[in-house]
Formats: sequence, C-alpha cells, structure tokens
Amino acid sequence: MNNGVHVLEAVPGHVLQVAVDAPQHSGLAGPLSYRSEHAVEPGSLVRVPLGKRELLGVVWPAQPPGDDTLPRELRAIAAHFADLPPLGPDWCRLLDFAAGYYQRSVGELASAVLPPQLRELSTDQLAARLRKLDRKRAAAPPDAAPARPDLAPEQAHAVQHLQAQLQAQLQGARPKPTLLFGVTGSGKTEVYLRAAEAALAAGRQVLVLVPEINLTPQLEARFGERFAALLPEPSAIVSLHSALTPAQRLQNWLAAHLGRARLVLGTRLAVFASLPSLGLIVVDEEHDPSYKQQDGARYSARDLAVWRAHDLGIPVVLGSATPSLESWQHAESGRYERVTLAQRIGGGALPRVRLFDMKSLPLKAGVTTALTAPLLAELQARLDRGEQSLVFLNRRGYAPVLHCGECQWKSDCPHCSAWRVFHKRDRTLRCHHCGFTERVPRACPQCGNHDIAPIGRGTERLEEQLAEALPGARVLRIDADSTRRKGELEAQLQAVHDGEVDILVGTQMITKGHDFRRIRFVAAVNPDGALFSSDFRAPERLFALLMQAGGRAGRDASAESPAEMWVQTWHRDHALYQALARHDYVRFARDQLAERQSASLPPFAHLALLRAEARTAEAAKAFLDAAAALAQDTAVLVYPPVPHAVARVADVERQQMLVEAAQRGRLQAFLRDWVPALIALKREHKAVLRWAVDVDPLSI
Ligand SMILES: [Zn+2]
Ligand SMILES: [Zn+2]
Repeated sequence: MNNGVHVLEAVPGHVLQVAVDAPQHSGLAGPLSYRSEHAVEPGSLVRVPLGKRELLGVVWPAQPPGDDTLPRELRAIAAHFADLPPLGPDWCRLLDFAAGYYQRSVGELASAVLPPQLRELSTDQLAARLRKLDRKRAAAPPDAAPARPDLAPEQAHAVQHLQAQLQAQLQGARPKPTLLFGVTGSGKTEVYLRAAEAALAAGRQVLVLVPEINLTPQLEARFGERFAALLPEPSAIVSLHSALTPAQRLQNWLAAHLGRARLVLGTRLAVFASLPSLGLIVVDEEHDPSYKQQDGARYSARDLAVWRAHDLGIPVVLGSATPSLESWQHAESGRYERVTLAQRIGGGALPRVRLFDMKSLPLKAGVTTALTAPLLAELQARLDRGEQSLVFLNRRGYAPVLHCGECQWKSDCPHCSAWRVFHKRDRTLRCHHCGFTERVPRACPQCGNHDIAPIGRGTERLEEQLAEALPGARVLRIDADSTRRKGELEAQLQAVHDGEVDILVGTQMITKGHDFRRIRFVAAVNPDGALFSSDFRAPERLFALLMQAGGRAGRDASAESPAEMWVQTWHRDHALYQALARHDYVRFARDQLAERQSASLPPFAHLALLRAEARTAEAAKAFLDAAAALAQDTAVLVYPPVPHAVARVADVERQQMLVEAAQRGRLQAFLRDWVPALIALKREHKAVLRWAVDVDPLSI
C-alpha cells in the first residue's frame, strides 16, 4: 500500500506518485509527485497538470523520491476518477516490468496501453459510461450449450494437462508455460476452448491472444457459441484490438476491468488488459511476428504474456505448428512443457509437398517463371475436378518496378531507397515504404520512350495472368490492396467458403488461420528471396509461412483427391525446403538452432538494437558512433553502425547498431545505464530526428 499516505498525514494533503506520459526523452522517467487533499489508492486513475497540459495519470504504488518536498509545494491533481475501481497491483507490476525491460517510462507505457478515450473523458463522463455498462447487465436467456466435439486422444491429453495445471495452481503451485506444438488442423482451438471452460468454471477470467485483428471475429463467434449458456451476460465475451471504435474499446476494456468480461480475445495490446481474476492466458500462433510492437514501447506481447502468467502463478499456453525458435529452445531446455498434437483431427492428411525445381525447365527467352507449364496444368486439372486452389506470392501490387529499356530508368521513390511498385488497377506507382503515389507516366520521365514495362510480379499481375491462362476460372485476389475498405475481406472470405472462387491468389494475409475447407492445392510460386536475407530470422519466418500456407490445404478429410502443396524453387536441395517437404519442423528447428548457437544469435545471445534517424546518414551514424563510445561494459558487444535494410524512407536516413550480450541480465544491466546516457547524448546531436532502443528486436 502507499506508505507515503500515512507518514504525511500531518501535513496538508497527501503526496501521490503519479505515472504520467512524460516521454522518456524529456528525462522525466519515473512517476511524478503530486498533491492531493484526500488519500487516493494506488492504481487509481487521475488527471494531473504537466506543464501547460492536463494529462491522464495512474497513481503509482511507488515510494516518493527521497527529497523533502512538502505537499504544499507540489501541484495538485486536477481530478480523481473515484467511480472507477483502481487498477490492481498485478497490473502495475506488469507495467513496471515492461517499462523497465523495454526501456520506456512507465507513464508513457500506461498512456499507450490504456483505452485512448480515457484521456478525453471527464470524471462525470466516465461515471456515465459506467452507468451505461450497468444497464447492459440484463441477462440474456441462456441457450442450450452446443454439443462439444469428441476429443482425439492427443487433444484429450493436452486438455488433461492444462486442467491439471489449473487444479494445481488453485492449490498454490506455479505451473510452467505450456508449448502446444500442434500441426495445422490438429484442433488446437478445441484445446483452448476446453481449457478456457475449466478456468471459467473455476470463476476465473481468460485472456486469448491472436496475431491478427481479422481472426478475432471468427474466434469470437466460436467462443460465443460454445459459452452462450455458461456466459449469458452481454459483455461476458469481449474483444480488444485497435480496429474497435474508441467507444467500443473503452466499453470492452471497462467490462474486463470490472470483471464482467470473463473471456477477453484480442491482439497484442490486450496483453495489458486489466483482468482482476485472470486465471488462464492463451497465445495462439505464438511465433507470429505481429506480437511484437514495432514503435513506441517495442514490447513482445507473447513474452509479456509468459511474464504475466508467471507473476500470477497461472497457466499460459503458447500454441503453434511452427513455434518460434525461442519458445522451442525453452521447451528443449525444460523451462516450458511441450505438449504435441501430431495428428490432424478427423484423419485429414497433411498435404504432400512437392518441390518443383525451376532449373529443370528449358531456358528460353521471355519465359514467365511464376506460371510454369506444369503448374498451369495442375491448376487446370484441379479446376476440372471442381476443386479450389490457392496461389501464394508474398508481394502485392502488379510488378515491383517499372522499367525503361532505352535508358534503364526505373521507378524509384524520390524519398526512399526503394522502388515504387506498379499498381495496374488504378495505374499508380506507389511506394510501400512512405506511401508516395503518382499516376503512371505515359512515357519514360527520363528519355520520353513510350515503351516502359513492368519487371517482376506481384499478386495483381499474377491474378491477371492466371485469368488469361485459365479462361473461365474464377480468380480472386486477397491482399492488403483488395481489402482496404471495411467489410471487403469478410465478403471475399465468404466467397471462398461458398465455393464461388476457383483460384485464390494472395499474400501472407491468406495463410493465417483461415479454415478453407475446400482448398486442395496450394502453390508458392516465388519464395526463394528469404533464403538469402541479411536478417537471420528470415528462414524461420519463411518456413512458418510455407507450413501455414500448406496447412490451408486438405483440411476436409472427406475429400477424395490428395491435398498437395507445390513450391517452385531454384534451390530445391536447400535444407529448409527439404524439411518442409517432410513436414519436419523438429528437424528444421534443430538445424536452425545449431546455426544460431554457432553464430551466437538468439536464443543463445540477447540483442538490442539502437536505431537513429536523421536527414543525413552521417548525422545518424555520428550519434550511433558516440553512443558506442559511451558503452564501456565489457559484458556486451557493440557492433558498428549499419544502414537499415531500406536505408532512406520519406527523406529520412535510418541507421542502426546492434548490441549483444550472452546473458539477458547483463544486457538489461547495461541498458539501464546506457539509455539515460543516450538521452543526454541526444541533446548534443541536434540533427538526429528520432532514436529508439529495440530490446529483443524481431527484424534486423
Ligand atoms: Zn527512358
Ligand atoms: Zn517512398
């Protein structure tokens, strides 16, 4: 409890420590002191003055700093949201840990993860919202619970394991995190449902994290249907993600905070939901990169979920067909418990993987390498049988670049070190980095030649070429461009489910989670790029992506023809493809982990990345060089600064510098001293626009 309150009883008012969004770069890192006429419990929301502004703050369970400031010399809090119960001590611990670990101020993090609308509401308005939530409480008539599917033996074992953990936890044991390693279609969701049911029956709240906003409606429907009778109240199941309206997000957050929402489904930001009786956390597709926040406090929701579960002593389930190598290594070393679902439910077989060697094709000028003759023949055969196929290409747009054969002009972006992508449908050249968009020029802007042509292939061009090559086939493209408007994705997915589509073309967007029961054939037409990336995680991501893409095929065991996945590659013998062909994640993980270990890369070393942005590369590099000079700790290795993979974006030069330590604790200790020194250093480097530390960076 707040010790300061009692000590200071004699002076007029109380001193409160308030976490408020004073950005780290201002040098105000910890909670700030304020005066209040009455005692306010830690975790309470308040509004406080800071400079000329008034900001939302959280009364923090912290000791006041050791100075002798009297309450009367402090500024007073402006308002106290007394109608709202305080955030729990466990929530404050989570924020304290995350802020410390990811090198941000606790007030900045709190402000980023609380519903934005809280910042705008007055105490009266919030009280009105709470009353509105009360009125919604009328219980709906409970429906009869739907029949639960029978569990396969492996599923039953997984459920028993989690139920035992929940039981043991009620007796005070601290369960290990569970890595649920289940092939695509093995019924992981049913395991989550059963575990959630057990936790709910014990009166606890359940948090389910998913990587994509798009996946929340289908999951919400599935959980809603299952728990309609168990959780009849209207806000018992809520979702939390950034696509909600501010009012919805606040309402769902309040439902969770007040304990009315028993089950919360959400994307990474939901890991910070206030859940006073949390009893189980599920992280679905735990390997997915979208669990890592890419700006502000660059937290990993997956890692924080594990921390939060450990702190509370509750079970956490990390599910994946292709676990992150970090989680896999934790299972190997015994820190996590591994539970395996090796069989598809209902006896569906995993698709046969065929590696198509592009070198076997006769080389001739003008050959279009994506749509090979054998691939078209296969698609035609599937078409004749009335089956659906999926063609996967991880590049949107029509062509990656427009090119003049006369003068070698290419459609570069004037603001970035990148090409602008040709989008044929609206005849634009669009930069996928800064968004700079222009009409396609009629002639080469450099020499006036009228014959400018696209090079390479994106999903838009693939869609066009497929429609030309297979007349009569109904081809649908799903990617970030085709689903820009609200409701478009849902409509397109529905068309696939309804069988109105023969060939689905798309980016990684369609490989995640969607249960396409009719698809029997998946082709990846040009996946080789990631094999030779400078990012050491690229092969891991490619393997996961291809396993997931393949996992879309053959989910309906009753179909007659064998499901197949086809990978067109110039590197057929690559170990990654060989492991893929055997669906052998374990082998792939073993190879990759051996490579990582010999190269001292995560999970065998711990990394942080210091990024700097400036108008010139020299200014950014000078800051990083000076930062490196400040690093005196011999336990860490500071690499020389290098340009970002796309060095210039929107006329800003980006440089980065890697810091490595053998132990996590040593890296953390180093950052605790280094980051405050960088704040001071930045003041001498006026040309630096932005800088940031990314702890456990996902893309290098
Ligand atoms: Zn030209
Ligand atoms: Zn650009």
